[in-house]
Amino acid sequence: MKITIIGTGYVGLVTGACLAELGNNVFCLDVDQRKIDVLNSGGIPIHEPGLAEIVSRNRASGRLKFSTNVEESVAHGDIQFIAVGTPPDEDGSADLKYVLAAARNIGKYMNGYKVVVDKSTVPVGTADKVKGVISEELRARGSDIKFSVVSNPEFLKEGAAVEDFMRPDRIVIGCDETPTGEQARELMRKLYKPFNRNHERTLWMDVRSAEFTKYAANAMLATRISFMNELANLADHVGADIEAVRHGIGSDPRIGYSFLYAGCGYGGSCFPKDVQALERTAREYDQELLILRAVEAVNNRQKHVLGKKITARFGADLKGRHFAVWGLAFKPNTDDMREASSRVLLRELVEKGATVAVYDPVAMAETKRVLELDFADKPGALQHIRFCDAPMEALRDADAVAIVTEWKTFRSPDFDQMKSLLKQPVIFDGRNLFEPEVMSEVGFEYYGIGRSVPVSA
Ligand code: NAD
Repeated sequence: MKITIIGTGYVGLVTGACLAELGNNVFCLDVDQRKIDVLNSGGIPIHEPGLAEIVSRNRASGRLKFSTNVEESVAHGDIQFIAVGTPPDEDGSADLKYVLAAARNIGKYMNGYKVVVDKSTVPVGTADKVKGVISEELRARGSDIKFSVVSNPEFLKEGAAVEDFMRPDRIVIGCDETPTGEQARELMRKLYKPFNRNHERTLWMDVRSAEFTKYAANAMLATRISFMNELANLADHVGADIEAVRHGIGSDPRIGYSFLYAGCGYGGSCFPKDVQALERTAREYDQELLILRAVEAVNNRQKHVLGKKITARFGADLKGRHFAVWGLAFKPNTDDMREASSRVLLRELVEKGATVAVYDPVAMAETKRVLELDFADKPGALQHIRFCDAPMEALRDADAVAIVTEWKTFRSPDFDQMKSLLKQPVIFDGRNLFEPEVMSEVGFEYYGIGRSVPVSA
């Protein structure tokens, strides 16, 4: 089938590459010339396990093309996926300007029946807006070409995006009950047929419910995390261990183990903005989502938890102190730094006068880029942050190390080497990678999240 992907970011590139891998003829469009140049010269602009091989194989076969040519891209696909960003507007609502710009281009250049698929995460009612914009453009052209707008939200996780796309738990598709909607349903059924070989994974529903489902899923996951983080902070006070509690409640099949890890806050391009956007949608209807308001507030507070533990241990004035930070990306296996907790911690440490040495297995370049923006108001502050090529290098002469991202490579470090490099053996473990008792045995002063009283060496 002939597919166009509008927006070649995390979602668009993975979608395009995976659909090409299944034999489709895919045209990926982006407005970012640099990104397209990287892809056309055989590179890959993001870190995503397994993606580079698929992109290179399908580019070579001619089934996957990258371009900034809007007219050509719209002419190409019978199915047009809109996978552009939907960042938060100033008031927290999803900014639809990129989605509607993509829709406008479709309306301007479409030359025959098209299925327009909203793959971006968009508020309930967006399909109607997309439909409105395309109709407006068609009217201006005096054209009555038919089209259909479908909602097909994406559930992939960065770091496991290819695997998630190729083996989805479910495929949610919202279609209209109109004749053009039926036509769209048939094309979507054909496109996703290879994913349903083992068993039917597609959940068909109306467009608004499909749009809502994506927000409901992310809001539920974010709620579980904030719930555990809030309890973890209490566990620190009452002398309980949140890891024992996690096992104690996760073993109940009604609760389950997933997404119950306490830590130093969730980040990324989805949870923070989607929770905010759903709250904002509710307000538009004079409704208030009290739980989600709390989920967001708890998460914002949790991003300061490591900073608080560090100042509780070393004092509010960190002048003359030096810290190591292991892990910068918002989660492992990605270089995505959007809303990463490390950014809050680095800002806090530097503002309190400390110097910092940082290491992340893949997000170093992206960290440099985002910190330039974060510290734009504090010229010179970046000089207090040293970027290291290896985890052990970051530890040299540090008063303590803070772990912010749970990369596998940090899970079984050489504790003796760590002790020999650190000025003093102190760990602030923002992801509860280690057991407090074990850390005590190997001679560390250990601070986890909700692991009860700090364990001294
Ligand atoms: P991204 O920022 O990585 O990519 C978006 C791309 O769209 C950028 O390359 C940008 O240059 C391009 N773009 C913007 N306007 C354009 C236009 N008019 N025409 C062509 N290209 C245009 O974003 P992302 O992380 O891939 O997210 C895309 C959407 O998918 C968002 O709504 C997001 O919430 C949702 N989503 C993201 C994830 C994730 O893990 N990243 C998972 C599920 C859903």
